[in-house]
Amino acid sequence: MKIHEYQAKEVFRNHHIPVPEGYIAATPDEACAAAAKLGGFPVVVKAQIHAGGRGKGGGVKLTKTIDEVRSTAAAILGKPLVTPQTGPQGKKVGKLLVEQGLDIAHELYFSILPDRSTAKIMIIASRAGGMNIEEVAAQHPEKIIKLMINPLTGIEPGQSREIAARLDLAGPLAVAFTTLVENLYGLFIKTDCSLLEINPLVITNRETLIALDAKMEIDDNALFRQKDLLKYRDLDEEDPKEVEASKYNLNYINLHGTIGNMVNGAGLAMATMDLIKAAGAEPANFLDVGGGANEEMVENGFRIILSDPNVKGILINIFGGILRCDVLAEGVVKAARKTGIKVPVVIRMMGTNVDKGREILAASGLNLITAESLHDAAGKIAAIARA
Ligand code: GDP
Ligand code: MN
Repeated sequence: MKIHEYQAKEVFRNHHIPVPEGYIAATPDEACAAAAKLGGFPVVVKAQIHAGGRGKGGGVKLTKTIDEVRSTAAAILGKPLVTPQTGPQGKKVGKLLVEQGLDIAHELYFSILPDRSTAKIMIIASRAGGMNIEEVAAQHPEKIIKLMINPLTGIEPGQSREIAARLDLAGPLAVAFTTLVENLYGLFIKTDCSLLEINPLVITNRETLIALDAKMEIDDNALFRQKDLLKYRDLDEEDPKEVEASKYNLNYINLHGTIGNMVNGAGLAMATMDLIKAAGAEPANFLDVGGGANEEMVENGFRIILSDPNVKGILINIFGGILRCDVLAEGVVKAARKTGIKVPVVIRMMGTNVDKGREILAASGLNLITAESLHDAAGKIAAIARA
């Protein structure tokens, strides 16, 4: 789960990680009130969307007067913001963070994330922070510092001092930095982050360290024990079909192809997407209804796939184990009756109660195409894709 910059900064504040003073605003009036509360200029107006690169896309503006705050807020709010990370359609800006402007002496990069290949926690830091960090990483990898932390023992004081030294920080700055790193590492572990990134981490002209930007992503699999963070979920930032699917415990991911599919078991779902590709088409989604799916889940899964306007055909591929074929058939028939079938639907099923399932499909009078085998299903999907 991604959260917004202003939310991450709220969490930072509660964990003694220095951030600039700032207030959230949803209208130009609120933005002006927030700027007035700050009591001085420059004021930075920052679009709050779940994507980076806002500076490059015109979503971060330094303002010098209250009129400028108002016109900047009016120009950004309610409109899509296109950045190098949003895709061409952009992301609609609903809120702004109105923040005290800082005098920046230097921009550092700092992040913490799990490293899958070593099964350790990786800290990445660089003196070349700021908006071009991706280019720095590509062209000057020697400027990127990486350090592995054993998650069982946690960060050792020598490790945070080592990063400080490699960043050329000395004296009080080095002390402030090591404290910051230890607090951030603690926060990362405590909140089950999959990413904690500060870019830039700013050294001010007064030799203090402040997190100017804040990105936090929480591991979805840990949300059950991160109830305090759930309030930060912003459904407006998520695909509405995925939000709907999550209500029914369906593992659904929208994929922008034209062949929808509903499968039980993640492995079979992956194989089914391969099958669709091999048939010359692109999957419109990943959907694992799970081994223990009931009729209601099947019905909702089918309805969600049908609600995708890109879908030109659907492949249902079920191995009847715990989910019996007759339960699947009932769910599909119910959903099809409710929603109506506007595209061809190919059903391949095998396993427990397959004959009963086929009878239910045949007796429904609905135009459902049954496939005898995977090979047969692939051929039928290929024909739909060509049509
Ligand atoms: P991002 O582009 O989405 O990562 O947004 P950031 O929050 O990182 O802001 C982008 C850039 O705006 C930063 O790298 C800074 O150079 C600049 N910026 C943001 N806030 C301030 C500020 O308070 N003062 C100054 N001088 N520049 C700022
Ligand atoms: Mn940034």
